[in-house]
Amino acid sequence: MKGFEYLEKELDELKEQGLFRPLTELESEQSSKVVIDGKEVIQLSSNNYLGLTTHPRMRRAAMEAIEKYGAGTGSVRTIAGTFTIHEAFEKKLAEFKHTEAALVFQSGFTANVGVISSILTDKDVVISDELNHASIIDGIRLTKAARRIYKHADMDDLKKALEETQDYRTRLVVTDGVFSMDGDIAPLPEIVELCEKYNALVMVDDAHASGVLGRNGRGSVDHFDLNGRVHIQVGTLSKAIGVLGGYVAGDRVLIDYLIHRARPFLFSTSHPPAVTEACSAAIDVLLEEPELIEKLWDNTRFFKKGLNDMGFDTGKSETPVTPVIVGEGSLAMKLSDRLLELGVFAQGIGYPTVPADKSRVRTIVTATHSREELQQALDAFEKAGKELGII
Ligand SMILES: *Cc1c(COP(=O)(O)O)cnc(C)c1O
Repeated sequence: MKGFEYLEKELDELKEQGLFRPLTELESEQSSKVVIDGKEVIQLSSNNYLGLTTHPRMRRAAMEAIEKYGAGTGSVRTIAGTFTIHEAFEKKLAEFKHTEAALVFQSGFTANVGVISSILTDKDVVISDELNHASIIDGIRLTKAARRIYKHADMDDLKKALEETQDYRTRLVVTDGVFSMDGDIAPLPEIVELCEKYNALVMVDDAHASGVLGRNGRGSVDHFDLNGRVHIQVGTLSKAIGVLGGYVAGDRVLIDYLIHRARPFLFSTSHPPAVTEACSAAIDVLLEEPELIEKLWDNTRFFKKGLNDMGFDTGKSETPVTPVIVGEGSLAMKLSDRLLELGVFAQGIGYPTVPADKSRVRTIVTATHSREELQQALDAFEKAGKELGII
């Protein structure tokens, strides 16, 4: 139809820059190997850290929930869509996270948007790391609170921000626990200490830390022994947990407030029973099969060392999120394309997700990759990296 010429022009520009990317279709389940274009390739681009998307206990829990409760819930939580299983799962999550209460949102994205947009007013200020996730940024866009962005993980700049904002009623400092594009861990002990000193609230988004860091995958707060000192813990059920959803864990008063004021919670339908019960089974798996997390870290160390030994730049990564930073966007896409030909799916990421000159192929190994698969992937990286003059 006429009228979209201005969008077409922008897309043409993307095509010229080699940054127009059609969606990649998986023709199989999400696992250590996936089928793309009829070919089985090693999956290095999912967030399926522990392989839970296909764990037998999760499949069974989802199927039993469908049998018992049906496919959907038919309402938002606050009208007629709260089932006993929703409440039971939130109680289990709160116990797992060592907090008074927890509340599940439709996604991690809506959890961040819901919290930040609802708990602050124009009397308040939000202080945010410059590399925080897009959902935190959008939450900030929706709040009437003042905003101050501090340099990535820079504690001097955070201190300055706290000193400059002492006249506000509430100050909320927000950080990713593990940064999603670089795989570095936030300096949480220092952040918490500064916030205690300056009387500010702390919020951590543990999307890439849940199931990865801390005892049984409890996240970055537990990893640093900061239980009881972080006001708001956001997590996702869509990554290591293997299903879909987000949650907020914290004090009862916070959760009660969100139930009454967080707009995605109020105005969007609750999770289907299969989602809730599969997520609940995932917590059991974390508690009863911690060897999965051990395996994830073993694989991470092996793969990262392999990349570094070949001379690839993996930046500041200290977690399974391992970027292979190459510079220009088009080079990252070329590397990704060549890897796919060699049997490895590792997505290229460029501007605006990361700075244009820090484009990369981002990899995440999982607990379910075998050593042979990882070695095969490393061999492919070596071949493609040499061909393209990256190493
Ligand atoms: C992925 C991610 C989210 C969004 O989680 P979804 O459950 O996929 O919506 C939020 N924050 C961070 C840091 C993430 O990496």
